[in-house]
Amino acid sequence: RLAVTDPITKLFNRRAFDQRLAAIYDDPKDTMHHALLVADIDHFKMFNDTYGHQVGDRVLSVAAAMMKNSLDKDAFVARTGGEEFAVILKGTSLEAASEAAEHMRRAIEATPLKNHNEGVDCGSITMSMGLCMSSDASGADELYSHADRMLYEAKSSGRNQMKALSLIHI
Ligand code: GH3
Ligand code: MG
Ligand code: MG
Repeated sequence: RLAVTDPITKLFNRRAFDQRLAAIYDDPKDTMHHALLVADIDHFKMFNDTYGHQVGDRVLSVAAAMMKNSLDKDAFVARTGGEEFAVILKGTSLEAASEAAEHMRRAIEATPLKNHNEGVDCGSITMSMGLCMSSDASGADELYSHADRMLYEAKSSGRNQMKALSLIHI
């Protein structure tokens, strides 16, 4: 279990995520639609610089818990890097996945964080997100790069929002 777990957040780690993402395209008989959501905490460097790395680590852990709590039990949630996360939702639609992402975004934005050890109110954090459906990519790498591009768009359009790749198949 340790080999697939991120120590700070107890979420799945990058290695587990890479395997799970690749598995989406492994079974040619699987015609279900799956969603990949990538999320990144906004201005986290400023947060670290203001409150310190230790408080930052607590925030990562709390952010992970908020993500898990706001998503369905069977959502696969991983910490893929520093303050970056990824969620795989199996058997879903673009509409349902967008709604889940928005629900999560609002829950995080609405939760004030207080550090009792330091006695400081840290306000709340926000996340930017990118979403792509497995049917809009031909493999794991392409799926990830689409979702990551949408995350970049969410960042550059002001943060604290989700952008979804929306393709029309003709
Ligand atoms: P943006 O909204 O553009 O994402 O800005 P940002 O500040 O969140 O992004 P940037 O990539 O500039 O900084 C990420 C910061 O995340 C830098 C580093 O201090 C912090 N970070 C990365 N990993 C960890 C960690 O494990 N613990 C803590 N406390 N901080 C971390
Ligand atoms: Mg960030
Ligand atoms: Mg980042």
